[in-house]
Parts: sequence; C-alpha cells; structure tokens
Amino acid sequence: MKLSRISCQVFRTNLVSKLFQPLTLAPPNSEKVVGPRDDSQLSKNQKTHEESAADLMASVPQLSHNQLPIFLYQYSTKFRDEMRPRCGLIRSREFLMKDLYAFDESLDLAKQTYDRVSAAYLKIFNELQLEAIRIEADGGEIGGLASHEFHVACDVGEDTLLVCKTCSHVNVNPISSACELCNGTGHRKVTTLEVGHTFLLGDRYSTPLSAVFADSNNVQQPLSMSSYGLGLSRILAASVECLSTDLCISWPTAIAPYKIVIIPAKVRFPKMQNFNLL
Ligand SMILES: [Zn+2]
Repeated sequence: MKLSRISCQVFRTNLVSKLFQPLTLAPPNSEKVVGPRDDSQLSKNQKTHEESAADLMASVPQLSHNQLPIFLYQYSTKFRDEMRPRCGLIRSREFLMKDLYAFDESLDLAKQTYDRVSAAYLKIFNELQLEAIRIEADGGEIGGLASHEFHVACDVGEDTLLVCKTCSHVNVNPISSACELCNGTGHRKVTTLEVGHTFLLGDRYSTPLSAVFADSNNVQQPLSMSSYGLGLSRILAASVECLSTDLCISWPTAIAPYKIVIIPAKVRFPKMQNFNLL
C-alpha cells in the first residue's frame, strides 16, 4: 500500500536469472546465494536482481525522460545456503523478499527517490509498531554510491547497535566512547535484526548494460538507478517476537490474519444464560 502511493509497479524476474558473466559486475568471492544444496553455476539464484532489472530497462525501445521515474518491484521466494537456520522465520533457508528498483533521469533525482522510498519504509515499520533504525552501510557486492541498512529492535536479533542517548545517532564504530555526531558519551545498547537494505546505485549497472533513455535534447543518457530490499518473512517474525508475551501472540493490526475472531460458546455451557446470543 505504501509503495503504491509512491507510484510503484509490480514486475517479475526469473528466479534463475540469466548470467552476466562478460560484465563481471560482482566480485569473484561474493556471497554465494544458491538453490537448495545446488552448487551449479548454471542456477545462479540471485538474492537481488539489479542486473536483471537494468537489463529489462535496456530492452525498452526509445525510453523517454517523460516516462521517468519508473519504479518496479516484486515479491519472490529466495533460497539461501544457510548453515545455521534458527528462530523459525528469523533465519531460514527459504524466505520471502520484496525487492524494488527505481530508475531516474539524473543522480540528483535518484537521491530524492532514495529519500522518498526510505521514508516510506520507515512509515511501514511505524505502522507495524516496530522501532526501526536506519544506519549507513557498506554496499558490499551490490556496490553503489550510498547504502543503508534498516534494523528493528528485537531481542532475537544478531546485531548490537550503540544509540546515542543525547541525539539518537547510531554509532557504527563500537570502540568509540564518544558519539560521532554530538560527542556525547551516553549510549544505549540495542539488540537489532536487519530487515532491509537500500542502495543508491547511480549508473553502476545501467552504463555497462546500456539501460539508457533519451533526455530533453534527444541525447541518450544512462538511467540513474537505486534498489531496495525488504525481508518480508523476517519482518513478520520480528513483529510477532516484539509484540507477543509468554502467554499470547500479538500481531500488529496491519498484518494480523484477522482483526476479530468470534469463538462460539458451547450451547449447554452453564453460564450461557448470562449472555445474549447474536
Ligand atoms: Zn550523539
């Protein structure tokens, strides 16, 4: 719903994407993401699809600046060769992921898109009653000009963040005693779970894959690209972990399977006479 409000469209890439060997965009030792126990190089089950999305845009004939920006997203099942699955859906070999790819006509506009989508993500977590923390991150194998991780505070998480008590800045350097932003010395440790990752990519994929558009002077320019991932299975599990007690499971209203459940009492239950039946 939040993505529809910023004009996103659903698309679908193949689970087994075509290989882009000649371009060698990913470093040779990048994290291996494969099908269930399948090490075949011919079944490269990608976690994200920057290359496929850029390739799709490259196939659009005569793309004009008037048609931009374009937002494409999909929900798909992914597989990870997870060596230590645990906590149900928190860390599993099969998981549901949403990935979104945005295409703008300039880097400045791509930065605006990046901020808009990031704000939409924070609204999603707010609606799920999760404490979301956005931190600068390493682009890793996907690369790009900027990257951020989205974490939610969750006791079963695997990361510990130091949040400044004075300015709420998240300090990424754990050995630093003073806040990088305000120099304050008070921190609170928050155990978190990573649930999303965003990348401002610029022309990293569009130039080598020839994903171009015609600008207002009818000159071909590379699309400026950004990509966004959300771990849906993990968000579902984190929501339940955060809101539930030992006695009952509580769901955020936005994703609860049912808002109201009516359990009929037994007709001969002795205290039924005290109730007015509907
Ligand atoms: Zn601070």
